[in-house]
Amino acid sequence: MVTTHNLGFPRIGRGRELKRALEAFWAGKIDEPALREAALRLRAGRRQQQRQAGIDLVPVGDFALYDHVLATTLLVGAVPPRFAGIGGSEIELEFALARGTGEQPAMEMTKWFDTNYHYIVPEFSAATEFRVASTRLFDEIDEARACGTRSKAVLPGPLSYLYLGKETAPGFDRLDLLPQLLPVYREIVARIGAMGVEWIQIDEPILALDLPPRWTGAFATAYNELAPHAPPLLLTTYFGAVDKQAVLLKELPVAGLHLDLVRAPQQLDAFLPDYPDDKVLSLGVVDGRNVWRSDLRRTLAQLRPAYERLGERLWLAPGCSLLHVPIDLALETELDPELKQWLAFAVQKLEEIDVLRRGLSEGELVIRSELAASDRAVEARHTSSRTHDEAVRRRLARLNAADERRASPFIDRKKRQQERLRLPLLPTTTIGSFPQTPEIRAARARFRAGALSAEDYRTSMHDEIRAVVERQEAIGLDVLVHGEAERNDMVEYFGEQLAGFMFTRDGWVQSYGSRCVKPPIIFGDVSRPAPMTVAWTSYAQSLTERPMKGMLTGPVTILQWSFVRDDQPRAETALQIALAIRDEVCDLERAGIGIIQIDEPAFREGLPFTSDQRHDYLEWAIRAFRVASSGVGDATQIHTHMCYSEFNDILRAIAQLDADVITIETSRSRMELLKGFAGFDYPNDIGPGVYDIHSPRVPDEAEMLRLLETALRVIPAQRLWVNPDCGLKTRGWPETQAALRHMVDAARVLRERLQSPAGAERLSCAVESGEYTDPV
Ligand code: GLN
Ligand code: ZN
Repeated sequence: MVTTHNLGFPRIGRGRELKRALEAFWAGKIDEPALREAALRLRAGRRQQQRQAGIDLVPVGDFALYDHVLATTLLVGAVPPRFAGIGGSEIELEFALARGTGEQPAMEMTKWFDTNYHYIVPEFSAATEFRVASTRLFDEIDEARACGTRSKAVLPGPLSYLYLGKETAPGFDRLDLLPQLLPVYREIVARIGAMGVEWIQIDEPILALDLPPRWTGAFATAYNELAPHAPPLLLTTYFGAVDKQAVLLKELPVAGLHLDLVRAPQQLDAFLPDYPDDKVLSLGVVDGRNVWRSDLRRTLAQLRPAYERLGERLWLAPGCSLLHVPIDLALETELDPELKQWLAFAVQKLEEIDVLRRGLSEGELVIRSELAASDRAVEARHTSSRTHDEAVRRRLARLNAADERRASPFIDRKKRQQERLRLPLLPTTTIGSFPQTPEIRAARARFRAGALSAEDYRTSMHDEIRAVVERQEAIGLDVLVHGEAERNDMVEYFGEQLAGFMFTRDGWVQSYGSRCVKPPIIFGDVSRPAPMTVAWTSYAQSLTERPMKGMLTGPVTILQWSFVRDDQPRAETALQIALAIRDEVCDLERAGIGIIQIDEPAFREGLPFTSDQRHDYLEWAIRAFRVASSGVGDATQIHTHMCYSEFNDILRAIAQLDADVITIETSRSRMELLKGFAGFDYPNDIGPGVYDIHSPRVPDEAEMLRLLETALRVIPAQRLWVNPDCGLKTRGWPETQAALRHMVDAARVLRERLQSPAGAERLSCAVESGEYTDPV
């Protein structure tokens, strides 16, 4: 018999019980025993759902109250010294690390590979010490056993754990901590073994990255030390191909390997022919990152050679943890039935694995009805008129080079735009959203629920826009925005108005901690039936003499934050979205809007892990942005905005977007970004964020002035904009107003200095000499 297992299951619960319990606990409405009780119930429910779906080895240890990397930090006792004084329970400590305390900011959070899940980044220094500091994993193993569940322990591997952390001081390499970490891991795996657990799934997803040789070299050391003390280890990789490490992996003293064949099907060839006789090979064949139903017949054909070669040593699983998909399609009672039959959520995906197992072990006859149903769904989706829109396809086929290029080069456009907009030196602006007050949220919710008429809703949004415009004028900003009050989410807002998108009712996926998102599903050709933002933006412009900036989400970000159809290349879907956004851009221009921002915060996030795939991605991503933005005349100014990541490795690509202005998050990583600009002469206008919007702290004028002076060392004054790091929707009004006033004042002071004869000379020297001194 082929063994089936799962790598990880969603933690939030069918009704988002985890979110509710966490938030109730944080609000002081329930106590710790009640929170623990809720978590216990959730874990029992997950085990039962997986067993019912037919999974042999159910993962234990993949649950976490906040994040599994943070749980590992607690397990190995690597609490950063800055939290040393914290007393209280383990759960209190856990939330202090994740959310910060009065004195200490939270540990940093970053995206888990190319998913939308965020993990808590471990902090390492030469002083880091490890010890087995938590019994939670062992308790959960006990808990599963007490319920009679056949389980497999899940543990992030020591190398991935170190790699995904960061050094807190320069001159130290976290890989140097491996010799101290390994004895602790040895103790953990030995203890799991002593509990009678059959297998440990040890996750080393970093193997799919372009790893430095020092890191790949460390795998043999690490696993030679762990394996003799451990129950059988299943070394688990996902999110990409690991065939470059095939020789190494086949030689490691582990009892099995897991490969993600959804992301990288071709890598099987590097493993199968000479796979060691004493190892299990687990193949991930059901997509843990997307919501589409499998083509079971095709998957079965893909698996057959492996089954013939391996027999019972073949295991089946999803490609990666199911953390990244919604839990149960059965909850979607209101979904269009035609579209619903194309989908599979976590529970359905596990059922698919079980069908595949039976098909392999017992023959196709026993699964003939399941196969027939799968065939029908595949055929229906393939031939459905709902996925194909001839007009969109014709338009895409007709795209030519001129559609991807603005009419004139940037210098000429800049002149035309300046004649039209008459902006001062160092223009001030914001990124788009203003505080989303409870009243705004309530108005949107009531409108959705049908409790507020369209007319009344419009009136309330207009009131909000008017208030926001007045406030911006009073602050003295140069380029205004309408504030985005009508948007719940920057992707959902557009998805709901575009053809080719569907929305679930309960398709929640954890983003971080208690925060969940409900990504739209792109199932068909995308087009824009009607203008999406023109009315709001025009209304806002009618209230002021100053330029009003139209605000759109870009094609790459819409793609990145949705579940994307898998029946055509992502590049093609991106271009379809680009055309839809292009229509909106052109309509805004026609309505007299002179500045249009196309946000691409997820542009960097979509970049593949390995350098051989990056070129391709950048080519189509750049093309999509350019198609979206190039339909306008020279006098219309296109802005873009990016945040959340390191940009230095893609500055050249960002320049190729040829946006007239880019506003970019900098204040948290200021030094780094400016180094990038020192090494590469970014050609167009740029606004490095001068204050961090993620905290309510109000920086003073002097602080922002210093940042701007620093920026002027690498960006000529004529091309420098002044703006915050990102949108302000999560902030309150008092701090927003205070910070923006300081920002406008800082710009004014610097402008005056630059325009005085002495200042002009001083700055032009600094800029033209190209000299760059490291700003601190
Ligand atoms: N325009 C959006 C806002 O201001 C941009 C958000 C983002 O970059 N994530 O909220
Ligand atoms: Zn942003």
